[in-house]
Amino acid sequence: MTSKQLPPNLHPDTLAVRTAVERSQYGEHGEALYLTSSFVQPDAETAARRFAGEEDGYTYTRVGNPTVSSMELRLAALEGTEAAIATSSGMAAILLLGMGLLRTGDHIICSHSVFGSTIRLFSGEFAKFGIETSYVSQTDVAAWKAALRPNTKLLFAETPTNPLTDVCDIQALADVAHAAGALLAVDNCFCSPALQQPKRFGADFIIHSGTKYLDGQGRVMAGAICCDQRWVDEVFLPITRTAGMVLAPFNAWVVLKGMETLGIRMQAQSERALAVALWLEAHPKVARVYYPGLASHPQHELAMRQQSASGRGLGGAVLSFDVVGADAAAQRANAFAVIDAAQVSSITTNLGDTKTTISHPASTSHGRLSEAQRQAAGIGQGLIRLAVGLEHVDDLTTDLARGLDLLN
Ligand SMILES: *Cc1c(COP(=O)(O)O)cnc(C)c1O
Repeated sequence: MTSKQLPPNLHPDTLAVRTAVERSQYGEHGEALYLTSSFVQPDAETAARRFAGEEDGYTYTRVGNPTVSSMELRLAALEGTEAAIATSSGMAAILLLGMGLLRTGDHIICSHSVFGSTIRLFSGEFAKFGIETSYVSQTDVAAWKAALRPNTKLLFAETPTNPLTDVCDIQALADVAHAAGALLAVDNCFCSPALQQPKRFGADFIIHSGTKYLDGQGRVMAGAICCDQRWVDEVFLPITRTAGMVLAPFNAWVVLKGMETLGIRMQAQSERALAVALWLEAHPKVARVYYPGLASHPQHELAMRQQSASGRGLGGAVLSFDVVGADAAAQRANAFAVIDAAQVSSITTNLGDTKTTISHPASTSHGRLSEAQRQAAGIGQGLIRLAVGLEHVDDLTTDLARGLDLLN
């Protein structure tokens, strides 16, 4: 296989379509899909050297696959990290992170508003192996510092959060982690590298669910950790080649092609989300809008500074809003009425799609929390989350007006 040598200092839009284009002897222009579980060896001696790790060369897809390698190289180029390692899903990436970094007796500090399955993985599964997790407020740097223990190995944050779009100061958390000899992982699923590159602010590991914006069209599951090469070679690859949570070549190919349009999608979807957020803010039946691109957002300036990988601050494509209602029951009924009146947006909790999705966090993604936990997280019964896609803004606001205009 040959790959063209690219000149240095290319822009992300160029890297997204030009990085890791490996061509076979046929010179195909589109990236090939190597849908194979194993690779034929030229002779027994070469096979022996490759299996011993003494010579580069593909042997078996659990150990390595050219399509998966291309996807990893392209994602690393976009995140600005030395390397990336792909996994079967976003959760598999977080599992891999924990398996690689943690031992019995270690301690994690995590924002209490991260993805629900992340909390279940840490508190349910990792706890079985004697790893403890403390949860703190996303935005309270002093709380992260106060939660440090001598055995703290990992700080884990996600920014902006789901569904309330709280933004944490990545550099401040990296400083807290590093001063204590710990490491910082940032789940960059909501922004993608098109908006935010956590490495620039000191994060050691960037977690992706490729299922979301990297694919971008809701087709496949995928995940990755972006980090320094030595972590991949010495820590993560020995685990994936043995434990097997690797990305399937077909899914890698879909994500590889999805990343080509990541920049323009994130730009267009962020612009639509801002327009919808401004429209919602002016609507009398909307009590509050949560969106980092709004001047009213408590961390608006931080978000615009951190989410400026595109050259200008963008708020991302996920927003939430509270509908009016005299009490929790009325708010829930009103939220359900708005969701059920939508004829364009899909009722689903997924995000990162070109199709707009609408959901009620309190009864779906956050439905398993107790009422007290939900209140602590600020997720009320009137809260609706919208993950804005590529439809025309007027069709999206008309869709919301269908329900909102009926509320009393
Ligand atoms: C979806 C999601 C994940 C998990 O990714 P999967 O690909 O579904 O396993 C992790 N973090 C965030 C922020 C997510 O939205």
